[in-house]
Amino acid sequence: MAYFDHNASAPSSPKVREAVTAALCDYGNPSSVHAVGRAARNCVEEAREEVAALVGTTAENVIFTSGATEANNQALRCCDRPQVVASAIEHPSVLEVSPEDARIPVSADGVTDLDALSELLKRRGPFVVVSVMAANNESGVIQPVKDAAERAHAAGALFHCDAVQAMGRIPFDMKRLGVDMATISAHKLGGPKGVGALVLADGLETEPFMRGGGQERKRRGGTENVPGIAGFGVAAREARERRPSIGWVANLIGILERHAEAAVPEAVIFGEDVPRIANTSLIALPDVDAETQIMALDLAGISVSAGAACSSGKVGESHVLAAMGVKKELGRCAIRISLGFENTVEEVDKFIEIWSGLKKKAS
Ligand code: PMP
Repeated sequence: MAYFDHNASAPSSPKVREAVTAALCDYGNPSSVHAVGRAARNCVEEAREEVAALVGTTAENVIFTSGATEANNQALRCCDRPQVVASAIEHPSVLEVSPEDARIPVSADGVTDLDALSELLKRRGPFVVVSVMAANNESGVIQPVKDAAERAHAAGALFHCDAVQAMGRIPFDMKRLGVDMATISAHKLGGPKGVGALVLADGLETEPFMRGGGQERKRRGGTENVPGIAGFGVAAREARERRPSIGWVANLIGILERHAEAAVPEAVIFGEDVPRIANTSLIALPDVDAETQIMALDLAGISVSAGAACSSGKVGESHVLAAMGVKKELGRCAIRISLGFENTVEEVDKFIEIWSGLKKKAS
């Protein structure tokens, strides 16, 4: 089996699994004052330190949530700015809470247009929160976060960044980048599903999105997902420690892209000429539907996904490729390959063999 779908969910390490299991055994409620409760509280607070370190901040700024979807909702719906301006390639949990006429367009390479952001800000005044992701989940294209944050602040706006796909792949220091609110998801870095964090800049507060309990310093109601958080903490530490070795994954994706282009000269690699996270390649095989490619690769034991997989599992039209001005006929032939540290050159070779064979069959 070759798993090439790390942007959908990354495999967990033995240490993450151990931490989750240990936390299941420490069954206390972290809000209880007795010893059993305190053990669970320690577990949550240790993980908070790790998540804070991953984004260059301190533990009190981390709010644990049920994942990035909730964190994005809290950032954009519960801060004190009523208007959201978001790039057109954001995750649906951002797009669905921002008006369509406040979308920042992207270039043909998939990079957020900063001048268009400035124009939007001029028209909307300071009661705005701007949301630009760190790296796109489909194309892997790295976004100009620091510059976008500067422009947002110059206009008096707040700046939110969905950093889900950047974690462990590119440096992400909230303070250096000028990010007011950052979103992270555990399962994209080898932690459990159903847990994530909203991280706030020093001194910033939002209203809670989940009400009904005083947990997370009154910023997120509900008993903490202790096993999930414990696994998240270990995954965050591992992602931070592993990041300097990301060149290995970059090398592998480089081999894949070179061989793909050599085997199928008409293949299109989106965002090829701009900086991308090291593990991601969004490639179209003209005239072969993404669904056909995914099924053939799956039969050969290789897991990839379409550029845009809906939650139903069906292949929909990618809003990311549409925003990049890619024609529908080409967009529906795009698959996303997202690698991890455990992938090998042999797996890449096998992928090229199956994938390029599909083109031969089609022609
Ligand atoms: N933002 C981005 C960029 C994502 O890739 C995802 C997951 N596809 C999310 C948000 C949502 O994350 P979660 O599954 O933790 O809700």
